[in-house]
Amino acid sequence: MVSSVAPPGAGVALEENPVATLDWAALQQRVENCTRCPLHETRTRTVFGTGNRNADWLIIGEAPGRDEDREGEPFVGRAGKLLTEILFAAGYQREDVYIANILKCRPPNNRDPSPEEVACCHAYLERQIELIQPALILAVGRIAAHNLLHSDLQVGRLRGRVHRYGQRQIPLIVTYHPAYLLRSPLEKRKVWDDLQLAQETYRKYLAGITDNN
Ligand code: SF4
Repeated sequence: MVSSVAPPGAGVALEENPVATLDWAALQQRVENCTRCPLHETRTRTVFGTGNRNADWLIIGEAPGRDEDREGEPFVGRAGKLLTEILFAAGYQREDVYIANILKCRPPNNRDPSPEEVACCHAYLERQIELIQPALILAVGRIAAHNLLHSDLQVGRLRGRVHRYGQRQIPLIVTYHPAYLLRSPLEKRKVWDDLQLAQETYRKYLAGITDNN
C-alpha cells in the first residue's frame, strides 16, 4: 500500500498552523477564510480589526453590526462616529489605537454572541492582543466586559476600577458602548470619567517605564 504522507513542509495547509503562531498577515487571512462557527454562513465580510498595530491602547467591542458587516471595519456608523469622538476627547485619533471586537463576524439581527461563537473566535483576539502587546485595554460595552473578565456583573458595576487581563496582567478598563450612549446620552459623563481613569492608568504605566529605566 502506498503511503500518502507528505514530506515535511510540503502540502501542509496553512490551517494546520496554530493561531497562536501566526503573524499579522496570516492571522488576517485565517480570519477571512474562517468557518469555525456558523456565523460564516451569514456574514457579508469578516471584521478583523483596524488601527495601529503598535498601539498602547486596544479598544475591544462586541461584534460587527450591519454597517461593520458591510464595510469590513469595526465601529463604523453612528456608534463608530461617537467612539471616534470619545477617543478624540481622550487625546487620540482613531488611527492611534487598535480597535477590535470579541467576534469577527456579525450575529444575525445583532443578537448577542453565543458562548460557543465566542469560544470559537477567541483565539483570533488573543493572538491580536499578543501581537499588539497593549499597555491598556478599554472594554467597550457589556459583551466585551463579560467575555474578557468572565463576569456577568452589569457594566455599571464593572466600570470605575482597573481590572487585569491575561497572563501579562494588562490593565483593563470597562466603559459603556457608544450604541448605548446614543440611547442614553446622559451616561456620557460616566464615559468621560472612565476615560480619565484610563488616562491615569496609562500615565502610571508610562511612569513605570521611566522609573525602570
Ligand atoms: S465569528 Fe469568528 S469563529 Fe465564527 S466564523 Fe467568524 S471568524 Fe470564525
